[in-house]
Amino acid sequence: MARYLFRFDDICPTMNWITWQEIESLLVQYGISPILSVVPDNRDRTLALMPPVPDFWDRVRRWQDRGWSIALHGYQHTYVNRNRGMMGLTPQSEFAGLPREVQREKLLKGIEIFAREGIRPDCWVAPSHSFDGTTVDLLAEAGIHIISDGLWFWPHMDRRGMTWVPQQLWERVRTTPPGIWTVCYHPNEWSAHDIDRFREDLSRSSSMAIRLHDAVAIGKKRRMTITDRFQAHAMLALKRPVGRTLFRFIKPLIRI
Ligand SMILES: [Zn+2]
Repeated sequence: MARYLFRFDDICPTMNWITWQEIESLLVQYGISPILSVVPDNRDRTLALMPPVPDFWDRVRRWQDRGWSIALHGYQHTYVNRNRGMMGLTPQSEFAGLPREVQREKLLKGIEIFAREGIRPDCWVAPSHSFDGTTVDLLAEAGIHIISDGLWFWPHMDRRGMTWVPQQLWERVRTTPPGIWTVCYHPNEWSAHDIDRFREDLSRSSSMAIRLHDAVAIGKKRRMTITDRFQAHAMLALKRPVGRTLFRFIKPLIRI
């Protein structure tokens, strides 16, 4: 059956805390353990929506103590090139295509901030999904062995011992085939209408929610299959206009 993992990106001191307060109380009410993608040292002005809260790291520690997963979301969330990286999704990157030493420095600085604040990075979430093989090597070297990204239906472990928990949906829970489906939300951009929509998502699908930890346990027992590859290619094609048009025609035949 389909299980849903809820992920919230762009958590930083200057995020939209008014919206977040409502989201957090809904998560608690429905007993959801989400992934929260925390930017260690945010320098992205588009994420500066309110004055910074002074107790930001206390809040992050409380979430992690509650059993919620904290992702290392890049370092400063600033894009330095137009590289799509290995996921091929968005043409902007803080990491992909950069020399190993530059990537290493950024990663270690982010990890150091987490360590200083007593936060354990439960997984990696790249800003704009953009990272490359070098980033993956460096993550493994730094002891981060879980990546939340990819368009497969199921998690798997690769030969480096890295567990990949896919993230295939954005802003909405959709009816899906069996698999582990991570829904990525960007609450900084939400209006009151989006909060209502999220409440609906939770009331329909909270009984099918899964925690990162349990998704990783499934992934550790699987290796990438040809079916996984096919599904990821199909999902990527669906994100392009031609693929979406084609899907409209085949949808009635495959009953998704
Ligand atoms: Zn982000």
